[in-house]
Amino acid sequence: MLPVASWRTLPMMENKQAEEPKGRTVLSVGYVVLDVLVHGDCLGHSAGGTAGNVAANLSYFGWDAATAALHGDDPAGNHLRADLKKAGVSSTWLLERKDFTTPVVIHEVSNGSHNFRFGCPVCGRKFARFRPIPVDFAEDLVESNRQPDVLFLDRVSAAAVLMAERIRDGGGLVVFEPSMPGDSQKFRRLLELAHLVKFSASRLDPTSCLLNESSGTHVYTDGDNGAYWRRKGEAWNHVPHFPVDAIDPGGAGDWTTAALLDALPSLVPDEVERTDLTEPLRYAQAVAALSCQVLGARSLAYEYEREKLDATVVNLQKTNHHKRTSRPRRPSKSRRSATCTACLA
Ligand SMILES: [Zn+2]
Repeated sequence: MLPVASWRTLPMMENKQAEEPKGRTVLSVGYVVLDVLVHGDCLGHSAGGTAGNVAANLSYFGWDAATAALHGDDPAGNHLRADLKKAGVSSTWLLERKDFTTPVVIHEVSNGSHNFRFGCPVCGRKFARFRPIPVDFAEDLVESNRQPDVLFLDRVSAAAVLMAERIRDGGGLVVFEPSMPGDSQKFRRLLELAHLVKFSASRLDPTSCLLNESSGTHVYTDGDNGAYWRRKGEAWNHVPHFPVDAIDPGGAGDWTTAALLDALPSLVPDEVERTDLTEPLRYAQAVAALSCQVLGARSLAYEYEREKLDATVVNLQKTNHHKRTSRPRRPSKSRRSATCTACLA
């Protein structure tokens, strides 16, 4: 039996007053994993994955955020669920499956660089691969919930296509961030359905003819070269990056996505398509730069109160410079009982 509870309060037919969300709403669907940060001899565990990070970052910005993904009945799954809850993300649509092992990603951070590992350096286990939520689960989710303002997708699946179709039809903004190029019918359909396609130049070539399938607005980030955006058929607009002393660039792209969405003056799809994204993207680039000065993809949220973040962004935009004066907080290690204390197997 699938859960029928809403990630807000009540289904649409009931008391409208009571279910009115406080702020903007996002449903983030796709890659949600346990992140293990390795920095020297320090280990930290947190919920991660692009879909998990974008939901948590938007919750930090005051949004009503939910994520839909699969996880296993294991210490890694229990930790990621609890960590998302701590970040204010609804776990109603996190589906625990006994026949599934929670995917884990090791993030090795040293000297300002960030490398990913998909196997455990301690116990040697190869980590489980991503599996999308089932279509009937997605169907149940869209049927029993109010329309979110934004549907964020980072993985191609039948469930993602179904949700994008329904939520677009209902007037929601569909944001697609492909993790790699693809040419399947589903990939092309998601490009077609998305109002906003955002990607990293390291994952998808901005000159790719695949982007012709999309009629939405395109945004891409290109590390030190900055970020770019364009409306369909127009030239790219450039937004420079902010040079800072980075210690961990991991998660900067997810902060760019969340801060860009938060800085949009309207989330109504027609209005987003007419919006000049230069200033929102400039804000997002500044937030992303500050995120590179903390350890861990989401630690920015724990290091800065929102007001302090915005004040620091204003200063960074004015001076093009920000030096950290305190040592970055280290993400904490899980105390859950597991055979391997690194990957929580
Ligand atoms: Zn391990």
